[in-house]
Amino acid sequence: MSSAPAQHDAPTDTTPDGTDEAHAFTELGLRAELLGALAALGYEEPTPIQREAIPPLLDGRDLLGQAATGTGKTAAFALPLLHRMVAHRDGGDPVALVLVPTRELAVQVSEAFHRYGKDLGARVLPIYGGQPIGRQLRALDSGVDVVVATPGRALDHIARGTLRLGGLATVVLDEADEMLDMGFAEDIEAILEHAPAQRQTVLFSATMPSRIDGMARQHLREPVRIEIGREQQVAGAAPRVRQSAYIVTRAHKPAALGRVLDVESPTAAIVFCRSREEVDRLTETMNGRGYRSEALHGGMSQEQRDRVMGRLRAGTADLLVATDVAARGLDVEQLTHVVNYDVPSAPESYVHRIGRVGRAGREGVAITLAEPREHRMLKTIERVTGQRITIDKIPTVADMRTRRLELTQAALRESLLEDDLDPYRVIVETLTDEFDLMEVALAAVKLAHEVTSPGSDDEEEIPQAPVRGPREGRPESGGRGGDRRGGGRPRMGGNTVQVFVGLGRRAGVRPQDLVGAITGETGIRGRDIGSIEIADRFSLVEVPQGVADEVISGLRSSTIKGRKATVRRDRGGDER
Ligand code: AMP
Repeated sequence: MSSAPAQHDAPTDTTPDGTDEAHAFTELGLRAELLGALAALGYEEPTPIQREAIPPLLDGRDLLGQAATGTGKTAAFALPLLHRMVAHRDGGDPVALVLVPTRELAVQVSEAFHRYGKDLGARVLPIYGGQPIGRQLRALDSGVDVVVATPGRALDHIARGTLRLGGLATVVLDEADEMLDMGFAEDIEAILEHAPAQRQTVLFSATMPSRIDGMARQHLREPVRIEIGREQQVAGAAPRVRQSAYIVTRAHKPAALGRVLDVESPTAAIVFCRSREEVDRLTETMNGRGYRSEALHGGMSQEQRDRVMGRLRAGTADLLVATDVAARGLDVEQLTHVVNYDVPSAPESYVHRIGRVGRAGREGVAITLAEPREHRMLKTIERVTGQRITIDKIPTVADMRTRRLELTQAALRESLLEDDLDPYRVIVETLTDEFDLMEVALAAVKLAHEVTSPGSDDEEEIPQAPVRGPREGRPESGGRGGDRRGGGRPRMGGNTVQVFVGLGRRAGVRPQDLVGAITGETGIRGRDIGSIEIADRFSLVEVPQGVADEVISGLRSSTIKGRKATVRRDRGGDER
């Protein structure tokens, strides 16, 4: 896909802020307001998908992109949409519509639009079920440039005449495979029928099953095709290093990083972050946690960078927290560990990062902290590099205690082998008049342990985040295994309740319609829904007790197969 960044020592082809010119955002033709927003966010260079997608999207081309979360796909479509918005907006109707599978994603994507489009005065509105419709009506009424919506709620607004698509310049289908899996195919078709034929259409999907291909053939005109992780066969280039990953939520990442570093005890480690902002924040956090950390990013002068590298080489710093751009071309003898604080945006970037260790016969370790939704990106990296990344469990509090005791034991053994202990003999001899020799040794070990391995404040367990996002091996048709899908599914843990929905087979309701309505209109994921039973006149959906109310209000405020349904907790047969 993209050419490999140079691995030489002092890059000569860089701009004053250290950005490689060929990879700079300024090369892509984006408006100054957008470049300003990106600089403020500390984005140093476009990710591969952004480099490939932004120029054709600015030209108005349709695009079919295979890319998972973590590749930077949101900015890849949001930036050109915002750029084009300026020319297209007139009046209050939206110029861009982004369809997403879930409420969670609607909020995330609209926040991203908001961040990038602030200086352009972009008016961005997320619309999804479960939120009072009145607020959405008022916002739509006062004028909106970009709408980010779940299909069900978008269709509701179109039917009411409150969402007018006549002025759309662009429609984006984000995570299209997920939308199809949730049974939104018909809704998407209906929405696209309302959009102008001359629009630009962009489709992003993590997987490309034949249904997505069919959808693309029907709705996209001569699209540019982009696939992350296809062409770049970098297998031979990947060094042999021990590679592992931990699945952890963003909030627990600093603590998880600390634990992993404690267990691994690197001589020196480099921690890669996505942006300058994150580099600065993490450096501060890790210093606060007692790790001697130094920041390195493109916003620093050459002199500052030299000083940082000097401290790392001299061993007065253990952790280098850096962006890709700043670390390009570095070769630090002492490095034993590379940590990806986020999953890199493309497999080549992963390979270049881990190439910092494991050189010239040295043993190297690469560790990746991935958020649950980024799990698919790990799989892509494995496929491209042809090497396995083991998913490890985050060390527990008990693991940490054991590790600290091991370190004390090792320190004592070293002292026994090497130190002159004679000056202390008098203490032991005096104390053994009064105490048992074992007791004396235990007290000495305790004191040594407290000094060599001070107790950590970090005594809380870090929860193991479940792997989320597109599931492996799911049927591509969106068919959820017929009407009764309890049989093939694992039983749900914990307390569940049955939700009664007053529409069934006669109304044409299928399991995927219910899953689609629930996941599209609430924050609940498909995998959290249990068995679904469809009878002639009603359906029963099993959901975890804790989310039952949210499911009920979500279903009440949406339509299923175009109809409103009675929805309530099942009372066991009185209405059947
Ligand atoms: P996405 O794949 O769209 O979910 O984006 C993943 C993350 O990468 C988001 O947190 C973005 O804010 C961040 N991101 C996207 N593009 C860049 C970039 N060029 N430089 C740094 N961070 C980025």
